[in-house]
Amino acid sequence: MAVLLRIPKTSIKSFSSCISRNFSVTTLNSEIDLKVPSFLSQNSLPRRQETKDGNVQWVFLGCPGVGKGTYASRLSTFLGVPHIATGDLVREELNSSGPLASQLKETVNQGKLVSDEIIISLLSKRLEAGEVKGESGFILDGFPRTIRQAEILEGVTDIDLVVNLKLRKEALLAKCLGRRICVECGRNYNVACIDIKGDNGNPGIYMDPLPAPPQCVTKLIQRADDTEEVVKERLRIYNEMSQPVEEFYRSRGKLLEFDLPGGIPESWPKLLEALNLDHEDKCSAVA
Ligand code: ADP
Repeated sequence: MAVLLRIPKTSIKSFSSCISRNFSVTTLNSEIDLKVPSFLSQNSLPRRQETKDGNVQWVFLGCPGVGKGTYASRLSTFLGVPHIATGDLVREELNSSGPLASQLKETVNQGKLVSDEIIISLLSKRLEAGEVKGESGFILDGFPRTIRQAEILEGVTDIDLVVNLKLRKEALLAKCLGRRICVECGRNYNVACIDIKGDNGNPGIYMDPLPAPPQCVTKLIQRADDTEEVVKERLRIYNEMSQPVEEFYRSRGKLLEFDLPGGIPESWPKLLEALNLDHEDKCSAVA
């Protein structure tokens, strides 16, 4: 059945140019309806001055364990825009008593991707709730993860910039297995100490563990999908389904490749530099 992209009434004006670009996607039997709020607009690539006005529309791509959530969340605080992680939306739903909970749990715990229909529906709900609260701009983390999701997003708004975080693959599994989450505040920590020597022209990488503060230490849990078997499957699926999304944005001149040089203390200032953010902003963000 053809899938229609419908723009909510409030957004029709700002999306007039999208309407002609609406497209059909074949699905088994459902309609995808990405509801986007009116703050989404056709922006150009970010310029230095534009990054503080709350209107950035950025995407973070990268393999499981690379640190998308960590850096997207820091930047969201820095820029004053919401950090929207589809993985978090999925986990909220699977921990709820909603009708999708058990189906999502099974999919996620096998390391598979949730269907585009479900992801679009969760994201639409989140964007609409944000609009009600007066949010503008966003940093998307973990979406789009398939070419189809990227096409749907492109059909409704212009993404300014896509940051592709990269880390040597030997570090990714260790980072996922070392991840710990505080059940109370939701912050991520890491018990892994990564120390990979350079070889064949590849630089080595050292990353300190990220210890939890005393108030979180007794409340740490591991994600159910952070087991060796499931992480390997997530990495395989990333290569198969999500790596093509990198090329999708590369061909549109929107992809910023960023090789993480180490842990947060080394990487954060370099990331800000790569994003052309001011030095004084950088100091206050790290403080
Ligand atoms: P990861 O560390 O693998 O990047 P996330 O927290 O982003 O983990 O996502 C956790 C799980 O949620 C994924 O393995 C997948 O099952 C589901 N998920 C999140 N975002 C998407 C998406 N855009 N499309 C399909 N499934 C998704």
